[in-house]
Amino acid sequence: MFGRKAAQKLDDTAADLHRRYGKAGDIIANAVIAPVRNQIDTGCTRCARGKCKKHS
Ligand SMILES: [Zn+2]
Repeated sequence: MFGRKAAQKLDDTAADLHRRYGKAGDIIANAVIAPVRNQIDTGCTRCARGKCKKHS
């Protein structure tokens, strides 16, 4: 049901929340995005694109 495209969108949204709201954004991302994201069996799409600040 969820694919790589959805994962990419969620990863981008989480990164955007972090950029805009810092720690508060992370809390929102963890509460809202992470549960959905965890159902998608694919690695961090931002790492794959070399854009990740969380894992690099
Ligand atoms: Zn990453």
